[in-house]
Amino acid sequence: MLVLNSGSSSIKYRLFDMPAGTSLAGGLIERIGESRGRLEHRSRGDVLEREQRVPGHAEGFALLLELLEGEGAPAAIGHRVVHGGDRFRAAALIDPGVREAIRARTHLAPLHNAANLTGIDAALAACPGVPQVAVFDTAFHQTMPPRAWRYAIPDAWYVRHAVRRYGFHGTSHGYVAREAAGFLDRDPGSLSLVVLHLGNGASAAAVQNGRSVDTSMGLTPLEGLVMGTRSGDLDPAVHAYLARRARLSPDEVDTALNEASGLKGLCGENDMREVERRAANGDERAELALDVFCYRARKYVGAYAAAMGALDALVFTAGIGENSAAVRRRICAGLGVLGLSLDEARNAAPGPLPAAVHAADSRVAALVIATDEELAIARETVACLENESPPPSPQQS
Ligand code: ADP
Repeated sequence: MLVLNSGSSSIKYRLFDMPAGTSLAGGLIERIGESRGRLEHRSRGDVLEREQRVPGHAEGFALLLELLEGEGAPAAIGHRVVHGGDRFRAAALIDPGVREAIRARTHLAPLHNAANLTGIDAALAACPGVPQVAVFDTAFHQTMPPRAWRYAIPDAWYVRHAVRRYGFHGTSHGYVAREAAGFLDRDPGSLSLVVLHLGNGASAAAVQNGRSVDTSMGLTPLEGLVMGTRSGDLDPAVHAYLARRARLSPDEVDTALNEASGLKGLCGENDMREVERRAANGDERAELALDVFCYRARKYVGAYAAAMGALDALVFTAGIGENSAAVRRRICAGLGVLGLSLDEARNAAPGPLPAAVHAADSRVAALVIATDEELAIARETVACLENESPPPSPQQS
């Protein structure tokens, strides 16, 4: 099973042996279309790195097939697709109709969906007989009730322009929620979880009885938590205010909120390791950035516990969630009100993941679980293909 994550100038790939989920090889082709492309390929402990011009996605895909030749041709391909709108509630086998539906939603995520489609087209052209599946970042959140996904805006904006909350990181939230249930040895259908996916992009999800009931990202991945370079929530009047006051165009405000805000806007640095290092050395801006980041996340945990009326576990995942004990400690400070207390020593050194980091007398569990979006895509691809071609019905006796 080959999993592809195609960006506008890159292709990230992993090859899995399914259903075991063993990772056989993987890599990244970057700077596609530029004068000097870059390739990094890992397979069985070996790492190959080289610079080479890769004119387009089709050539990039041909290159990765060549690199994977020793592993045999892939039996199926799973593609990450960022925006499925409200059309896709689950992964979908790619046929001309599905391809067109992804294309028709490009306006919702112009950079991402267009890049994802380029990867899909390259793979369809090179491997015409191989089943290919689109796995959507938005699909897991399609179970949200309208009260969570509607904005209180003029109805026509929703009806005519599809302005509503969709949510992203769904593949990760779904995967981590299932892993959490497995770790707790509980039926996912009986659990109320808050998942904090804290990477460069960050989002929270309320997952109740195995389904997403709310999430912090909205129409775009800009809403919600403070992120590396994205502001997260802010007063929607800021756009018009800056247009009038600083004469910024809508695109200028949008770009600044996506690329020059968040941790970077607050302290000039978007890498959390560096923010923490500076804060520990007494840098006040870095300390403030850390404080705003953690405070926003804590507010979402409280809001989602109230939204679900229950909380069994808080789950931390992605680069920051998995690795930063300080961020987990700051977010959990004050969550005693919900019955959650951390075990400081376990939190400081959780050991191999998944790990529990709550105190023995904590009513709510705190877990650290490694996300693996590519493996999650591989599993969703397998599940989709099984649904598409159900096993022959047993002979009637
Ligand atoms: P992406 O959204 O790009 O997939 P990741 O999930 O890889 O992001 O997370 C990247 C973030 O994780 C960066 O801010 C990085 O600084 C942070 N991070 C990684 N390791 C640590 C660590 N040991 N302590 C604190 N932050 C970390």
